[in-house]
Amino acid sequence: MPRPSPVTDEVRRLLETQEQHAWSIDELLASVRSSLGSADYSSVFRAVSQFEREGMLDRIDLGDGRSRFEMREDHHEHIRCERCGRVEEVPVCVLDDASAQVHSLTGFKVTSHRVVFGGLCKECSARD
Ligand SMILES: [Zn+2]
Ligand SMILES: [Zn+2]
Repeated sequence: MPRPSPVTDEVRRLLETQEQHAWSIDELLASVRSSLGSADYSSVFRAVSQFEREGMLDRIDLGDGRSRFEMREDHHEHIRCERCGRVEEVPVCVLDDASAQVHSLTGFKVTSHRVVFGGLCKECSARD
């Protein structure tokens, strides 16, 4: 077991607050720096990798080229703001019905899917 470090503790705290649904390494690094004063990329990266190995986190790819990490939980979809990049959870699976249709179109037994909705978050749409 690696020695617990203030960075590891702070990364865990941030992920647990749910203040933000999913975090990129850069976002975690910026928040850890603002609470601890300093932190380097590699210690944040190590903390995240350790939590991912332990099964506490899932890595998600929303198609914009950045990996994000979230606490492991039941299957859900995501929506990402096209203006500010904010990511939120769509708390239900909206695609259960689509699996039957995909099956009849392709013959595949559908076991998973990954969907990202795009849009404008409340704050960005209020700014219009
Ligand atoms: Zn936005
Ligand atoms: Zn999520």
